[in-house]
Amino acid sequence: LRLGLRLKSAFMKKASIVNIGNELLNGQTVSTNTAYLGEKLLSIGIPAVSSYIITDDIDSIVRAFNLAADDADIILATGGLGPTDDDLTREAMAKFLNKELQLQDELLQKIKDFFTSRERQMPEKNKVQAYIPAGAKAIANNLGTAPGIMAEANDKLLIALPGVPLEMKQMFEESVLPKLKRLATGQAVEIRKLKCFGTGESNIAELLGPLMQRGRNPLINCTADCGVITLTIIATAEDENKAVRMAERDEKSLRDKLGELIYGTGEQGLAEVVGEKLAQQKKTLAVAESCTGGTLAKLLTNIAGASKYFTYGWITYSNNAKTTELGIPADLIEKYGAVSEQVAQAMAKGARKKASTDFAIAITGIAGPAGASEQKPVGLVYISVDSDNGCDTKHQLFFGDREPIQLRAAQTALNMLRLRLKN
Ligand code: ATP
Repeated sequence: LRLGLRLKSAFMKKASIVNIGNELLNGQTVSTNTAYLGEKLLSIGIPAVSSYIITDDIDSIVRAFNLAADDADIILATGGLGPTDDDLTREAMAKFLNKELQLQDELLQKIKDFFTSRERQMPEKNKVQAYIPAGAKAIANNLGTAPGIMAEANDKLLIALPGVPLEMKQMFEESVLPKLKRLATGQAVEIRKLKCFGTGESNIAELLGPLMQRGRNPLINCTADCGVITLTIIATAEDENKAVRMAERDEKSLRDKLGELIYGTGEQGLAEVVGEKLAQQKKTLAVAESCTGGTLAKLLTNIAGASKYFTYGWITYSNNAKTTELGIPADLIEKYGAVSEQVAQAMAKGARKKASTDFAIAITGIAGPAGASEQKPVGLVYISVDSDNGCDTKHQLFFGDREPIQLRAAQTALNMLRLRLKN
């Protein structure tokens, strides 16, 4: 029993993230540092269990450190290490640790050298950055003047890094991660991401049933972003092999249950997957867009190497453009309306003919907020995919503002092509 308890405590290293800065509270900056650190920490088996965003005020920062220390073994702070009067992390850290700030001559020299290498003299203000709490260690910063600080007290590890994401990431990976990996020994974590498209979160949860139970190991998390559902499998075990085997087993179960709803892995987007298939199958593609205004072409051309398969894109926004550019009879538009199955099909066929491609996609719809009628509400979009095997058309009602409607329509079009390319 005792061994079990000891093992459990070795497994239980947890982190809390404290982000310091008024700019994070007034909407000026989104704390991407939290997301970055949360992901990195989890990947080494130290889950972040809380995060605090705190104003530039010493007592508030100390309070946040105390809360974080109640939650976790490791406190990771970012921001407030600069040279200006609103950079108070050093002082808050000293207060929290109950230590004096001490000038480190070596650090001062490094900061001076940083300026000298840029042919500048160190402003007097920067001298404060050479002070760290007694007993703490400095973390080297090769990209800026703010050194990080690492201190241990009452079984807690407190690490402060600069707020600038580029500096923070470099210092975390170089100096902090190796130390945390050592602390996390005994626990291996394997993380896999499966990307899905074509149904909603609740339907996925239903299909997966008990696999998504909280507290299960592997844990399966589900997030949704503009129609793309990301399933993250987090397997935790005593050793890496076992964690990998557990994650593999779950990945297989998910694939069996979700089939072609899964389009990719990791950070893959639909355009990347569709692009790979087009390139492999040596097929070409043209697009004709109306309500998406180039969103589909942009997604496709965001992928390096798209010139292998992407040849043409039209934004035929007006009826006249649809007629003159894609050869759509004016009376077809007159009869069915620009937002209709008939016009979507004619756009796809017209684009494919003009571009002489294997595939063409067309999108026409009402992105809103104006332009709707009783029969054709905002969010109604027709999408056609045309090839030698015929023309498929789908209509869907998307909800939300203009941009999400455009993005979802473009993603849905890519997904239709993905499913066509499979067969
Ligand atoms: P320095 O003063 O040397 O730039 P610092 O540690 O004082 O470093 P801050 O002044 O707090 O850092 O932040 C610098 C910039 O970094 C901010 O203006 C902001 O744009 C960005 N930043 C700060 N915190 C975060 C965060 N949590 N997520 C993303 N960006 C951040």
